[in-house]
Amino acid sequence: MIVMKFGGTSVEDATAIRRVIDIVRRERYRRPLVVVSACAGVTNSLIKIAHAVRDGDQRLSLEVLETLRSRHCQTASDLLAGSGRDRVVNLLEGMFQEVRNLVRGVQLLGELTNRSLDTFSSYGERLSSLIIHAAMVEQNLPSQLVDAREVMVTDRSYSAAQPIIGKIAERATKVFAPVINAEIIPVTQGFIGAVDDGSTTTIGRGGSDLSAAIFGSVLGAEEIQIWTDVDGMMSADPHIIPEAKLINIMSFDEASELAYFGAKVLHPRTILPAIEKKIPVRVLNSRRPKLNGTLIVHTLAESASPNLKGEVIKSIAFKKGITVINISSSRMLMAHGFLAKLFSIFADHEKSVDVVATSEVSVSLTIDNEENLSDIIRDMEKIGETRVQQGKAIVCVVGEGMKHTPGIGARIFSALGKAHVNIEMVSEGASEINLTLVIDEQVVHNAVKALHDEFFNSNQTHQD
Ligand code: ASP
Ligand code: MG
Repeated sequence: MIVMKFGGTSVEDATAIRRVIDIVRRERYRRPLVVVSACAGVTNSLIKIAHAVRDGDQRLSLEVLETLRSRHCQTASDLLAGSGRDRVVNLLEGMFQEVRNLVRGVQLLGELTNRSLDTFSSYGERLSSLIIHAAMVEQNLPSQLVDAREVMVTDRSYSAAQPIIGKIAERATKVFAPVINAEIIPVTQGFIGAVDDGSTTTIGRGGSDLSAAIFGSVLGAEEIQIWTDVDGMMSADPHIIPEAKLINIMSFDEASELAYFGAKVLHPRTILPAIEKKIPVRVLNSRRPKLNGTLIVHTLAESASPNLKGEVIKSIAFKKGITVINISSSRMLMAHGFLAKLFSIFADHEKSVDVVATSEVSVSLTIDNEENLSDIIRDMEKIGETRVQQGKAIVCVVGEGMKHTPGIGARIFSALGKAHVNIEMVSEGASEINLTLVIDEQVVHNAVKALHDEFFNSNQTHQD
């Protein structure tokens, strides 16, 4: 079986939902479990409703509610015909009446707990799944709506509830498996769950990917598909490098490196339950379903052919707004404990450090925001001469293939040299999955272009 998860923009209106149905039909022979998000923007609107009543603005809350009501009824009417339409519109109206009752409750109590907030935000997925399921049935795709709260058992940390995997595994076998085995497609909600006693929880914003990964992992899926509105992971930011290419396959570690640089496609943590079970996760674009997307796997087999391993270099990523801090101290020479002291300053100020490079008498490190910076500098000056440089950027060349390919470093430095980019810091982690450079922010686009040309556009292919 496979899991197919459709994000908010993939189910935003009737046109989008029709595409989803075509996609599911295409994959039907693989026995899918379909997990859906709320229609784009709906979770935010539900939270807005809740906050507005809490803040005493009942008019605003009812206004937003009315917009959501008409949007969902419209989508249902666009998709469905006849008695099916009436039945679904009635159910939708019933759900909006429940939301109105919640609004009234919060108004009476004058307080909004995380528990009530979760009940509010759970409606997004419950509404979208109701419509999508009905449309699938009308389009002759045998499917069954399953309330995710019967399966996604969580603890009681409302709004960031922790899934309890053991229990979810038991429930999934009881609830999803028989439906799938009967060749019926279960349609269920991402993001929402329930405590053992039945009270509704949510597992954190953007949590539908995690729902899909957990369901897939407990059911032993062959593949988990995350359908979004982008083609997949790219070899560079297409805003800067229009000829950027889609990455066919990459390892989880490579994907995690890219996530730090703002590859917003997915948060690696959310797919970890699948990756740990060695279930491949494929990111796909529901607007362009013919593309193969990006496959993220546990490990890239070293012996595999190039198309199962991908390119040596997967992507050139960057991040601007970086501050470099240099500290030098002659006391550091042959001394021990200096680095420990230095890093404890950052720990004390709860500041994360990204790139680090050291020599015998100096350490350079980078941070990506300046919160608490002056306090940190004050503490650092006690242990060494400290210098701060702003307006820097990190460029990161990501690719596991680097490990086994000599000469990559030389190509990186010569490409940047030719582009007249001055390199201020270099770091290559022991995993050799990336080479990270710190340069001036002003030349970062030139640098990314030079590197992208070197690894993706040169005529020679450098597979080995
Ligand atoms: N609808 C939820 C959110 O917007 C969950 C999701 O879309 O993944 O956060
Ligand atoms: Mg979403």
